[in-house]
Amino acid sequence: MITTPPADAWPSEFIRRMRSWLGDEADAFFTALAQRDVGLRLNPLRGPLEDLKARLPWETQPVPWCPEGVWLQEEAPAGAHLYHTLGVYYVQDPSAMAAGVLLDPHPGEWVLDLAAAPGGKTTHIATRMHGEGVLVANEVVRRRATVLAMNIERMGVTNALVINETPERLAARWAGLFDAVLVDAPCSGEGTFARDSQAIRDWSVDTVSGNARRQKQILDQTAPLVQRGGRLLYGTCTFAPEENESVIADFLTRHPDFAIADLPALPGLQPGHPEWVGAPDALQRAGRFWPHTGPGHGHFYALLRRQGEPPNDLPERWTGSAIPGRIWNLYQKTVGAALVMPVSDKGLLLTPTDDLYITPLEPKLWDGLHVLRPGWWVASLRHNKVWPDHALALALRPEDVRDIVNLAQDDPRLENYLQGGFWPDHGSPGYVLVAVDGFPVGWAKRGEGRLRSRYPLHLRG
Ligand code: SAM
Repeated sequence: MITTPPADAWPSEFIRRMRSWLGDEADAFFTALAQRDVGLRLNPLRGPLEDLKARLPWETQPVPWCPEGVWLQEEAPAGAHLYHTLGVYYVQDPSAMAAGVLLDPHPGEWVLDLAAAPGGKTTHIATRMHGEGVLVANEVVRRRATVLAMNIERMGVTNALVINETPERLAARWAGLFDAVLVDAPCSGEGTFARDSQAIRDWSVDTVSGNARRQKQILDQTAPLVQRGGRLLYGTCTFAPEENESVIADFLTRHPDFAIADLPALPGLQPGHPEWVGAPDALQRAGRFWPHTGPGHGHFYALLRRQGEPPNDLPERWTGSAIPGRIWNLYQKTVGAALVMPVSDKGLLLTPTDDLYITPLEPKLWDGLHVLRPGWWVASLRHNKVWPDHALALALRPEDVRDIVNLAQDDPRLENYLQGGFWPDHGSPGYVLVAVDGFPVGWAKRGEGRLRSRYPLHLRG
């Protein structure tokens, strides 16, 4: 366990409240809350979980409620390791990993993550959808939406749109569209007190009430996006019942078309505490992960179901094409030549910035919204040539490409590649996937006796 300074920096009113609710459990709770477990969620898009686990350089324990999750009992530079850059895993608190399990997204569904940055839960949802269906990852803060887009790319996700919108504007366009919606709400973040000193400084009873007001508003604005028969998972990383059981109780009184559903009996998941705030008993169906009863810093979840039968006139995943014939020919010539599988123009779109995406959603459906990434960025058109994009490389497997240079982690060419360099290589000309231990790192271009790195400028060290 990694232990931070004891809880004497925590607000006394926070301590008093938690003691009043937890009674005998409070000491164990405070001790556990001061510890920092490091959680890693392995990326099944990068290979079988057992293989990935075996390659980790650290000793790990399984996260009991999440098959993709492991956690480390000692400090490890997991965020600085090359496998992090290559999307082999995402550093995520174990209790946050339950969101992807409880929402239970399936391949082919339409899923919205309403408050998605930096992307922990979105990338988990995506790996469970296996690239099928539509995932909309939305983040209202522009700067955070950019980080979200980079994490989605890093994890090799191919079916996600990254949107920078308010819940209100989304609901005005997409009412009733989604099978499943996640609202991982902005909150007072009491669960993060071991690592986030800003959350400690910001905390007060007024902050808790202010968050509760905002959470109610966000849920009201989000509800119309859920289709009839669909599900809405609400989560926070705080313990304050005003931001949890009370928010859901309040929502249910104003939205009789929603009901709270039972959560699956995951190991470590404890019932909600309606009695702390005088909420109806039904709120026991909500769930809480606690830092003193499992790995992770704690989380609250409630699963809501919208009543009724799903409509049968919902749009399908888009399989049209919006690309001029000349550019399609160039795309086939370059991208088609690099890949083993035949390229398709299904969902292929040329944006006004001359970038090529495979989008799962018909462009007219998102026209007018602030879209950072309309899907999987596969190429760009520059100087009358098509250039395969970095995001294309990061979602490929070694067997997908005609040519690959697979390096070991200690190969000196790797550093050269990551700096944008080149080395002598007399193989046949064209695009080559550079990989480490079989995990894609990016493109290189071979020609004139050299293999030249195409690692993006903004990622170079
Ligand atoms: N789901 C993310 C993950 O797993 O990486 C973490 C989300 S964080 C708890 C909450 C997010 O809500 C923040 O990114 C924040 O910018 C966003 N947010 C803040 N105010 C919002 C609002 N009024 N409507 C929607 N999202 C909001």
